[in-house]
Amino acid sequence: MERIGVFVCHCGTNIAGTVDVEKVAEELGKVDGVVFSTNYTYMCSSAGQQMIEQHIKDDKLTGVVLCSCSPRMHEKTFRACAERAGLNAYKVEVANIREQCSWVMKDPAEATEKAIALGKAAIAKTILDTPLVEGETPVTKRALVIGGGIAGITAALDIADAGFPVDIVEKKTTVGGKMAMLDKTFPTLDCASCIVTPKMTEVSQNPNIRILSYSEVCGVKGYIGNFQVDIKRHARYVDETKCTGCGACIEACPNKKVPNDFNLNLDNKKAINIPFAQAVPKVAAIDAEYCLHMKGLKNGKDNVCGFCEKACTAGAINFAQQEEILQEKYGAIIVATGYNPIDLSKFDEYAYNTSPDVVSSLEFERLCNASGPTNGHLKRPSDGKEPKNIVFIQCVGSRCAAGAEKGHEYCSKVCCMYTAKHAILTRDHYPDTNCYVFYIDVRTPGKLFDEFYRRAVEQYGVHYIKGMVGKVTPQADGTLDVQGSDLILNKQVHIKADMVVLAASIEPDKSARPLATMLTTSMDNNDFFLEAHAKLRPVESPTAGIFLAGCCQGPKDIPETVAQSSGAAAKAICLLVKDKLKNNPCTAQPNENACNGCGQCANVCPYGAISYIDKDFRGPNRTTITRHVSQVNTAMCQGCGACTVACPSGAMDLNGFSNKQILAEVDACL
Ligand code: FAD
Ligand code: SF4
Ligand code: SF4
Repeated sequence: MERIGVFVCHCGTNIAGTVDVEKVAEELGKVDGVVFSTNYTYMCSSAGQQMIEQHIKDDKLTGVVLCSCSPRMHEKTFRACAERAGLNAYKVEVANIREQCSWVMKDPAEATEKAIALGKAAIAKTILDTPLVEGETPVTKRALVIGGGIAGITAALDIADAGFPVDIVEKKTTVGGKMAMLDKTFPTLDCASCIVTPKMTEVSQNPNIRILSYSEVCGVKGYIGNFQVDIKRHARYVDETKCTGCGACIEACPNKKVPNDFNLNLDNKKAINIPFAQAVPKVAAIDAEYCLHMKGLKNGKDNVCGFCEKACTAGAINFAQQEEILQEKYGAIIVATGYNPIDLSKFDEYAYNTSPDVVSSLEFERLCNASGPTNGHLKRPSDGKEPKNIVFIQCVGSRCAAGAEKGHEYCSKVCCMYTAKHAILTRDHYPDTNCYVFYIDVRTPGKLFDEFYRRAVEQYGVHYIKGMVGKVTPQADGTLDVQGSDLILNKQVHIKADMVVLAASIEPDKSARPLATMLTTSMDNNDFFLEAHAKLRPVESPTAGIFLAGCCQGPKDIPETVAQSSGAAAKAICLLVKDKLKNNPCTAQPNENACNGCGQCANVCPYGAISYIDKDFRGPNRTTITRHVSQVNTAMCQGCGACTVACPSGAMDLNGFSNKQILAEVDACL
């Protein structure tokens, strides 16, 4: 005979403000199998937990039902509490009467009625709960960081410093990400390269870190503590172990007409190149699309060009190099794939497609940067002249109306600050150049951020205009007519500009979605990686063992990126220090007798946990029948239940969420 205890929580006034908690406790106390029922202000407090423990012992409870907040919040707390009192942790159920009743219902009577129904369902489920025991799996003590921007670099260094080996997989030929492209950084205006390049060197010199540049993740299997990852290493046609980064090949290469992606195609590079002087690894790579020799090979000629090969005294050029797939094992994965500016070609109204003097903010960074295409001298891309009037337009593609054809609803967070930075730097170096900033709002909620913005206005005389730009029109004299509204003066304005700088919205990298599918983790509506809990688990993904760092999770500045990356690294370290991990026992269990081996369950399992075996069964007249039946790897199964729904024979069931239990819950509710 089951002896169930019911504990109804007030959650302060969160629940008790709407739900009649006393009535819920009273009604649930009358349900068959319930031997004790009470209510209390905060069940999760130590006094609340002590009370639960005491009643488990005194009333010899065989099951506990909590009517409280979401199980995501405190299920673990209450399970641990039950275990301390000697009750199996999986004999505890939580009815969510906060998020599902008090927070979403206005009428107290209806909310109370629903709370009672949910409580009854939980009691019915608890009665059918079987005690479950967590299994154990060993942990691979090694981490993978995907993306080598400042987020990936920070996370890798922290994990390596804790003594664990780390691989950084970076799709470009160098680590550094966007920070390596920036000039100065707000709010201190210190040089971005001076901060990030020592970190890049540190990464390359750390014996615990391996950099797999020009590489991408192309397959992920496994589960927390035991991921198997396929990594595609693109062919760079240069042997990394031999290249000294001397640059002789680049000197020798005659093809100088290759768009330079590091400078956002504002100038050209050679067909063999190293993106910038402080690149890590400092190893050349051939762009096969432009290389004369590679093009010749495609046409059956092997004697075209090849100057780089002749110039390289290290013998590092290898035109025969092939892409390679590495198969590696990791215990934890950190996603740090960062962001990209939105494609501005969609914004015809700002003449980005038609005028070279309309640039994105990231392009402006390159134009101000000493290692950029103009060696740090601010010049108009069209004629190389110093601009005398620059208009900055904020929120291009950010904060758009819901359902807008282009652009995003969210705020890109860093544009107000970097636009103020660009205007300050311009006015500092070119005091005769006027800077105008069109803005919707100026958002500066960081340490020393508002002071920085005020410096732009008060000390540097930057003209801030509250309003939107309607149209940018290139003029016959080479200038740009910027037509916008000044909402404070309540009039339309026209500014004759030499350059226009668009603060392009920040978007997740295009590889984020396919990567999320491989990692079986979730994304939000905007394709940023979703955190497990926005407030309480902001650096973890909902998939166990996968952590999030930097702008892949949402727009962030560098300090925030670094803080989050260290947080993600700390979480990964907490996992890697363990020798074994406890497995969730709520896993799928096939009934071999009912399974007909149709394969439906394996098709829907997002974690690849189901395989098939041939098993002998006793047939009629002492014969043996061999049947193909499903088998679940309980270490890989995450208990999502997809297979139980897909199985046409009803052969698949979930421990802790059996079909019988679900039906009992429905019956109890009704
Ligand atoms: P990223 O820098 O984007 O790095 C991501 C890395 O992951 C890249 O190297 C990318 O190649 C790699 N990657 C992507 N996908 C994959 C994949 N599938 N596999 C492998 N590798 C992958 N912040 C400040 O604090 N101060 C400033 O002054 C400042 N100025 C800015 C100016 C501009 C114009 C912009 C747009 C941003 C500015 N920021 C500034 C914000 C700053 O750039 C970001 O906070 C920071 O770069 C975020 O780092 P990250 O590592 O998350 O992303
Ligand atoms: Fe590397 Fe050879 Fe080119 Fe020098 S010449 S950068 S060693 S490939
Ligand atoms: Fe440049 Fe010629 Fe070498 Fe190709 S083969 S990278 S074109 S030098």
